Amino acid sequence: MAAKILDGKAIAQKVRDEVREGVARFAAAHGRPPGLEVVLVGEDPASVTHTRSKERVSNEVGIRGRLRALPAGTTEAELLALIAELNADDAVDGILVQLPLPEHLREHAVLDAIAPAKDVDGLHPVNAGLLALGRPGGLAPCTPVGCMRLLAEAGVELAGARAVVVGRSHLVGRPMAQLLLAQHATVAIAHSRTRDLRAICREADVLVAAAGKAKLIGGDWIKEGATVIDVGMNRDDAGKLVGDVDFEAARERAAWITPVPGGVGPMTIASLLEATLRAAEARVAKQRP
Ligand code: NAD
Repeated sequence: MAAKILDGKAIAQKVRDEVREGVARFAAAHGRPPGLEVVLVGEDPASVTHTRSKERVSNEVGIRGRLRALPAGTTEAELLALIAELNADDAVDGILVQLPLPEHLREHAVLDAIAPAKDVDGLHPVNAGLLALGRPGGLAPCTPVGCMRLLAEAGVELAGARAVVVGRSHLVGRPMAQLLLAQHATVAIAHSRTRDLRAICREADVLVAAAGKAKLIGGDWIKEGATVIDVGMNRDDAGKLVGDVDFEAARERAAWITPVPGGVGPMTIASLLEATLRAAEARVAKQRP
């Protein structure tokens, strides 16, 4: 039986509509919209595209989204000075620094400088720590949050389910595993040193592929009836965008599967908008006497 398609485009639209309503309520109550600052250093073409769409889509839902495009030669001191300025600006609720940074900039130093309350991509150690401890109140990375929403929309029962996350990056794999664990799944994290990845994947009721390797995961690696979330965004030999999973083969066995494109991708930006609204609401709630 062919899997049902988890339509990230449609679900992202639903999230954006929810955010638009929340933003209107926030603006009416507080006399200003939530503010999101997207910081880009350099001109990496993919990053330029991503940051422009983050700015555009945030403005579409009523957030005051602004792209700060800095030259590739920006020094760490200059970047940290901008982050300090944004941290201090009361009209700014969310700060996102687009990764990867040019090599001369230390990613840790930059991410650690963002005020945790404004860290809408959840990469500050305080937010990563709250997530790892299973404590509420933090901000989690947008891509895994979007994946969790897809699972919720599909009605996948996570408590007690076997979940396998392929990839252990701080941006996707690790936080994804933490979010699944928080929903009581039994979670394994696989990575480039994992032995017999196929056998591990075959046990997964929920399989999240985030390795960044085109068609790494074959159709016969999928357990019958599994839910497959494909985070990977790779170019095949013909230049076509493909995921980490062999979609056509996997859909013959899975119950639910995300397409690439049109699966996780649109959810990432939708989750960023949601995080900005949440950060704005949390900041004003804290400021109340
Ligand atoms: P990364 O390179 O930081 O991490 C990749 C992880 O995969 C590593 O932990 C590595 O150990 C593991 N890995 C690599 N090769 C493997 C193999 N052969 N077997 C098992 N594990 C292997 O990448 P990332 O930032 O986590 O992104 C992963 C993928 O997700 C990329 O394709 C990226 O483009 C995509 N991505 C998509 C979105 C989206 O919005 N759709 C957002 C972020 C990342």
